[in-house]
Amino acid sequence: MPVSILAVSCGMIQENAYIVAREGRDDCAVIDPGDDYPKLKRTLGGKRVGAILLTHGHFDHIQAVAPMADEFGAPVYVHAEDAEMLNDSRLNGYMGLMGGIATGPRIEAQDLGEALDACGLRFDVLHTPGHSKGSVCLYLKDEGALFSGDTLFEAGFGRTDLHGGDMRALMASLKALLALPGETRVYPGHGPVTTVARERARYKL
Ligand SMILES: [Zn+2]
Repeated sequence: MPVSILAVSCGMIQENAYIVAREGRDDCAVIDPGDDYPKLKRTLGGKRVGAILLTHGHFDHIQAVAPMADEFGAPVYVHAEDAEMLNDSRLNGYMGLMGGIATGPRIEAQDLGEALDACGLRFDVLHTPGHSKGSVCLYLKDEGALFSGDTLFEAGFGRTDLHGGDMRALMASLKALLALPGETRVYPGHGPVTTVARERARYKL
């Protein structure tokens, strides 16, 4: 069965949350829930959230995690190297960019590992450090779809001046991503969908 991918643009920073579902199933995986839970919930269209996957630990992608995990009893997954950011306003950028300390329930997360099977979907976890230490891209290889978080955008890439940022690591990560098949659709954490071929054409790597 094909897979449906729904983008939901959330919040002040316009981060993209993605609802990913195997057609014919009543559950879905949510990637980077963002910070507008009511909007995200309306877009679920009655589907049950079976898993919440995070591409990295920055505050703009995680504000809706705790209420969603709580309501659906869904497990939350993040790369081990970004786990410490989830409940720390200093590390996840909230304090620096929004001022103050984020309040809200604690986020309990498990390690993403190297691949994750959830909701009838198989995500390969590509560790792509640079924007943060534990940034990953989630790759649905059979579908030719890549959720690139804040590592790769249309005509851009993630900033490296926040906690754990590393430009050299980011360049190596981009090089690896741009070696994926050109027709791979790239679903970034901000901005419109693109493809590996379109982004590859912009760079000399
Ligand atoms: Zn980020």
